[in-house]
Amino acid sequence: MSASDTTTTLCVAGQYCDGYNAVAHPVNALFSGADLVLIAPDIHRTARLSELQVSEPLGRLPRTFTFADGATLVVPVSEALAKQLGESTPHLQHWESKYRYALAALVALLVSAWWIYSYAIPLVADAVVARFGSEQEAGLPGATLAKWDAAGVWEPSKLEASLQSQTRAMIATRLSAAHVEPRHIAFRDGLAMGANAFTLDGGAMVLTDDLIHVLNTEEQVAVVAHELGHVHHRHNQRLLLRQLGLVGAFHLLLGNSGWNDPLAETTQLLGQTRYSRAFEADADAYAVGLLKESGIPPCRLATGLRKLEAAAPVHGKTQSEWFSSHPLTDDRIRKIGGDCGAKD
Ligand SMILES: [Zn+2]
Repeated sequence: MSASDTTTTLCVAGQYCDGYNAVAHPVNALFSGADLVLIAPDIHRTARLSELQVSEPLGRLPRTFTFADGATLVVPVSEALAKQLGESTPHLQHWESKYRYALAALVALLVSAWWIYSYAIPLVADAVVARFGSEQEAGLPGATLAKWDAAGVWEPSKLEASLQSQTRAMIATRLSAAHVEPRHIAFRDGLAMGANAFTLDGGAMVLTDDLIHVLNTEEQVAVVAHELGHVHHRHNQRLLLRQLGLVGAFHLLLGNSGWNDPLAETTQLLGQTRYSRAFEADADAYAVGLLKESGIPPCRLATGLRKLEAAAPVHGKTQSEWFSSHPLTDDRIRKIGGDCGAKD
């Protein structure tokens, strides 16, 4: 071997069978570049590695090299041999296999999380609300309104007191079938929220000043009927429980046991404004039924939606929450049965 020859050579002790008799001969196997040379007192055999069949590395099992004539060489497995053969080392294989397991575990975790989020939590939350909802509801009148007032979410209404009481009475009279408590309807200046309506715990409801300015009386009644749909189906409680379930799942996952933290608080606030598309469809359907029962054309709800959409600030986060949480106005209007035309 010349000094400039950089081909590495590995010498391994192995067992050679010639394929004709069952006797295994101890040999020295020299792996040199692309060649294999077997050396023993009575054996000298040379072959190109590319002409041999080589067994796959499998844990600590010995490697077998099979010649074209059926002769075999068996040598112990080793990292040096794998390296000589240009294979990834057993060490690397170990990590590759760990990586595959980790990837599979991650996929399983994501699928489980999606299933829990989409099915398990809503199912359990709805069952709990169906069982205990009415008892819980009775214990919370006005609590959320006071909390939102204190948090500065909005400001006191600028509407005349007489207009407020007239509107309350008008809504309660027009929706007498729903037994609306006038005192449960509150008015607030919604500031950047614009024309907006909120359903709170205990059946309380907030209408913003802008909503009263933008909509005519029947449209106001229609929007209240929609909000009553959220109350009827207990959407706040169902959504709140779903989100608490989600927070709980996160806490379990991340090992954080603190419940009175900003995440839980934020989730609770968001719980009262963000509804799913299914919840909106349920509330619309309830409103259509109630409006018909009250002698008000359901198209007032559709027309009200159009006006609220047109009045909503159009850019970024200042867009009305009512619309960011009430998507697909056209689709909803179609399901309501169309709007009342351009006469309003
Ligand atoms: Zn809604």
